[in-house]
Amino acid sequence: MTFVITAGPTREPLDPVRYISNRSSGKMGYALAAAALESGHAVSLISGPVCIPAPAGADLLHITTADEMAHAVQTRIDKGCDVFIMCAAVADFKPRSLRAGKIKRGDGPITLDLIPTRDILATISLPANRRVVIVGFAAESAALADNAQKKLREKRCDFICANDITRMDTGFDADENELTLFFRDGSQRHFPRAAKLELARSIIKICITHAENH
Ligand code: C5P
Repeated sequence: MTFVITAGPTREPLDPVRYISNRSSGKMGYALAAAALESGHAVSLISGPVCIPAPAGADLLHITTADEMAHAVQTRIDKGCDVFIMCAAVADFKPRSLRAGKIKRGDGPITLDLIPTRDILATISLPANRRVVIVGFAAESAALADNAQKKLREKRCDFICANDITRMDTGFDADENELTLFFRDGSQRHFPRAAKLELARSIIKICITHAENH
């Protein structure tokens, strides 16, 4: 099978030296890529700027902005994809315009004019003649189950992997995570704290079962 996996943050430039971004080490997405490769699948890994090495054997594509990620995802899905995992922490907002020169401290207080980035998961074009299993991620600080179920429907996912970001010992930058998976039939499955690679292996197995059952 062919997996398309996104990982890491995107960066939305304000001027030549500054940007808006999200906290994301890329570790969960890279672990998913490693787990899919380990079980013999082809992996396109579309990654924002991260400081970790890519798993050997991945077809790695580096991007910076949300628009670049959207374009890379669409290209890879069009080439042929069985499972699409949107693990990246895409910036939700970008500056309306990019300043050509560096904003000077002496310019005084500034106001940022931000517009929403495109929601890649919700708007990507899917092939009519091929079934693609779609997996989203959700980092929530409140009402985890309600928000995850809402995103599952709005973003056309087969399932959503949700983590509670108020738990600082797991999640961002950590080697471990704790996840609850929410499925379309209303069921959910909790995975207690474990290494990201171990969780990734479980998620990849579920993706494969979903792909085979359609
Ligand atoms: O709405 P929220 O950002 O919490 O949704 C999380 C899911 O949506 C993740 O899978 C994330 O990669 C994806 N997403 C996206 N494009 C955006 C924002 C989030 O694909 N602009």
